[in-house]
Amino acid sequence: MTKRQPAASSARAPSGARGRTVRAPAKRRRVDCLLAPEEVHRLFAALRAANPAPKSELEYVNPYTLLVAVVLSAQATDAGVNKATRALFAKADTPQKMLALGEDVVREHIRTIGLFRTKAKNVIALSRRLVETTGGEVPRDRALLESLPGVGRKTANVVLNVAFGEPTIAVDTHIFRVCNRTGLAIGRTPLEVERVLERVVPDEFRLHAHHWLILHGRYVCKARRPECGRCPIREICRYPDKTV
Ligand code: SF4
Repeated sequence: MTKRQPAASSARAPSGARGRTVRAPAKRRRVDCLLAPEEVHRLFAALRAANPAPKSELEYVNPYTLLVAVVLSAQATDAGVNKATRALFAKADTPQKMLALGEDVVREHIRTIGLFRTKAKNVIALSRRLVETTGGEVPRDRALLESLPGVGRKTANVVLNVAFGEPTIAVDTHIFRVCNRTGLAIGRTPLEVERVLERVVPDEFRLHAHHWLILHGRYVCKARRPECGRCPIREICRYPDKTV
């Protein structure tokens, strides 16, 4: 007769308990969302009620200028980027025109933005790559976007969401903070938070979830002192140190 094999998750007991199997302690899954599905729904419904049609605060005229604006916005405010890009985009709103302008002129236009030297290099390099590979079109493709100089996962997510209407959620510093404070999505890295959001955000809110969370973090759930007294999701939020 064939002896029955222990299940994969079981382990043989150490000597002295021959013949018996003991079950290995089950791996505990980390709790990464403290809210019930109904609370997640109420949270987004409240943010939607406060701002039914949220928009990016970056100024752009087409997918290419959006891409450039997002690249420039790393470690900079949207207002600061807009101030610099108004004149720049008036001269160059396509990769071909940006290449014709050249790195020196681009650098002069954006010198009020942090890391402007590196960013000017990246803007020229990504414009060149677009001209060479797609004829200047911004690709609706994550891998291609992320292969461009200066473009990471967050930038690709913003472009896919804002320019192409895909339900991606770019996790920036505001969203990371709001999600961890409220208990909506707990994670140690932006990618961990993004993965939880992908799982828990109901479909009907996915397209605008990025903007609702970012604007909430920027204007209400601020880094230093959240304005809990006027917060529309106060009753749902699990942050233990709410302000009055
Ligand atoms: S109650 Fe306070 S901590 Fe919670 S989401 Fe609102 S502003 Fe942020």
